[in-house]
Amino acid sequence: MFLVGAGPGDPALLTVRAVECLSRADVVLHDKLVARRILELIRPEARRISVEELPGEHPTRWPHIVRLLLEEARHGRIVVRLKGGDPTIFGRGFEEAQALRDAGIAYELVPGVTAALAASAYAEIPLTHRSVSSALAIVTGHDDVVDSEQPLDWQVLARFPGTLIIYMGMRRLPQIVQTLLEQGMPPRTPTAVVQWASTTRQQTLTADLFDLPRRAAERGFGSPSIIVIGPSVRCRPEVSWFEKRPLLGCRVVVTRPAHQGQAMVRSLEELGATVACLPAVAIAEPSSWTPVDQAIDRLAEYQWLVFTSVNGVNYFLERLWRRGYDLRHLGALRLAAIGPATAEALQRWYLRADVVPTRFDSEGLATALSPRVAGTKVLLARADRGRDLLQHELARIASVDQIAVYSQFDTPHLDPLVLDALQKGEVDWLTFTSSNIARSILGRLGDDARRHVHAGRIRIATISPTTSQAVQQMGLPVAVEAVEATTAGLIAALVAQARPMSTQLAESGGGKIDEDPARQQADDINGQK
Ligand code: SAH
Repeated sequence: MFLVGAGPGDPALLTVRAVECLSRADVVLHDKLVARRILELIRPEARRISVEELPGEHPTRWPHIVRLLLEEARHGRIVVRLKGGDPTIFGRGFEEAQALRDAGIAYELVPGVTAALAASAYAEIPLTHRSVSSALAIVTGHDDVVDSEQPLDWQVLARFPGTLIIYMGMRRLPQIVQTLLEQGMPPRTPTAVVQWASTTRQQTLTADLFDLPRRAAERGFGSPSIIVIGPSVRCRPEVSWFEKRPLLGCRVVVTRPAHQGQAMVRSLEELGATVACLPAVAIAEPSSWTPVDQAIDRLAEYQWLVFTSVNGVNYFLERLWRRGYDLRHLGALRLAAIGPATAEALQRWYLRADVVPTRFDSEGLATALSPRVAGTKVLLARADRGRDLLQHELARIASVDQIAVYSQFDTPHLDPLVLDALQKGEVDWLTFTSSNIARSILGRLGDDARRHVHAGRIRIATISPTTSQAVQQMGLPVAVEAVEATTAGLIAALVAQARPMSTQLAESGGGKIDEDPARQQADDINGQK
């Protein structure tokens, strides 16, 4: 049984131990505020329960929480009680631990980054500072000043010589400020409110104490927020390192296959985006291995082996291995890769690509190969669907065999939550890394979502001209297209769009707005070049 802190929201602030616990748990009982991206770390087979699903309301729900924890633990299951921030800071973690202790159940307490620490780091307000604050007080603004079991001494707090942090204080902000002023805190004391600290919705407000309730109300600040009071607020730069992230607050949908999307998701998140995944195609073994096996057995007949995707590399070489061969079987074969990611996949097998084109698509590869393959035998290892351009081009000058080393199919279901967000226009960018993916998703997109795309509320970003063409053939406009046909190029294009036009025009290597529908070229065969 583990009582685990989930941190303030940013999944990167989970502890290593928290990640271990989540990936092992049979049952996870979590607070309402825990971020979706954190819940994704739970094994799909595990039972996942939000405390809201239990009977009662806070605080009458608490006995039900404890009962469930005890019940699951007694069945010998690995149970994780996942709480926002740190489990013991205004989180009843110690009370839950005591209940477990009383019931004779072993447990471990896993601390988490509490909201105050996140607000401090992500909004750049020091909690202590050698020259302005040598003490820190963390208090709750929730309990009624008069009725609480443990009433706070606001008279003392008003004279607190350091940084005062208030949790759960937004509902009663006017009364809290009033009380502090009445108790003698100077009206010009610097204050800040950090809402949704460490998440892509983070917002920070600074004001003098007397003005704080009015300013917070004007700007619509509410819960969950951390209130910071004290001179250290003055040390904050105008915009924090986190608030400078170029995609902060942008809602981006990544449509790459689940097993390939993670690096792109992390890059976007580190740039500040809120990312949702909508995998639309999946891959599997080819419908028949026979043609692949035959080609592998006769590999010595070929001079060139050409890969158009990372998956192609991995499926082909895995099959070669399983058939009893190893890398020596490739002999003097020359290797070509459609782009840097495919070349990297070869490198992971300790193979070097002899040819990588400068333009990462079928046309680029055909151009790079044409002068070299004349009169040779070429084996093309690829997906079972995609364009035949490469084969056609090379077949003019060489003998080309094409084999499907994996199959690609549309996933039967798209995540209803992400589809719903698209329907409601609650997405800023829909990204496509291949034309197959674009066709698969756009073919299943609801009418409202299509209207949002036409109106420019949801914007489509693509990896290459060919993918743009697929989008346009589905009747939708492309807002931005990557200059370099890689996921890094696509991300650079989004970042360029997020900045003011003036900086954008001065830069190269970012995105360009697609104004020229005639500029339509090749398709990647399945996305990752
Ligand atoms: N155990 C939690 C606190 C639970 S009390 C922790 O250690 O952080 C709930 C309060 O925490 C909220 O009312 C708010 O004051 C604060 N809080 C939680 N997450 C926050 C966030 N991301 N940004 C700002 N405040 C947050």
